[in-house]
Amino acid sequence: MSKHTIDDLLKGNEQFVSEEFYPHAAYYQAIAKRQSPKVLWIGCSDSRVSEDVITGSRPGTMFVHRNVANIIAFNDVNVASIIEYGVVHLKIEDIIVCGHTRCGGIAAIEDGVHENYIADWLCIASGAKDAADRIAREKHLSREQKLEVLTAENVKLQIKHLKSLAIIRNMHAGGPLPRIHGWLYRVESGKIDVLVDGRAGHEAG
Ligand SMILES: [Zn+2]
Repeated sequence: MSKHTIDDLLKGNEQFVSEEFYPHAAYYQAIAKRQSPKVLWIGCSDSRVSEDVITGSRPGTMFVHRNVANIIAFNDVNVASIIEYGVVHLKIEDIIVCGHTRCGGIAAIEDGVHENYIADWLCIASGAKDAADRIAREKHLSREQKLEVLTAENVKLQIKHLKSLAIIRNMHAGGPLPRIHGWLYRVESGKIDVLVDGRAGHEAG
């Protein structure tokens, strides 16, 4: 990141304070006392997928975890502690797992990758590649179509992982919360597709 970009960020913050924070001071002072987001966002680290910008939401709306290819790993204490804090302390009612088109992590799953840590990390999503390989063979998909299928299959797989975690399994034994949603953000159009609709009380995926 160039110095110019850093200057822009600080200037952007001044603009945020004068145009957003100050005019809505009551809201920001309320959330300064206590955050109470009702949504947990699990998304990709990709710079184009800024969860609050693309959903038109203010600070205070979503508790957020982002990593390469929006993966929920069983042995990841980081994501587990975020989920625990979210559902137990913040009483999060909805968890969104959001993948996106043109994802570098997804392309690396498809093509294979040789960097050690990235390869190990992406192994957690290898089940999604098996499903996408099968669908691509059956439907004779182009590379671009296949990458989109792989992205969707990865969201569904990570939701499966999420629902397998003891903390979520135990909560679901007692009721529908937290509701789980699977989304696909399109970096080409800015639009979100609902892959798994948790609003209906049952998931299509
Ligand atoms: Zn990505």
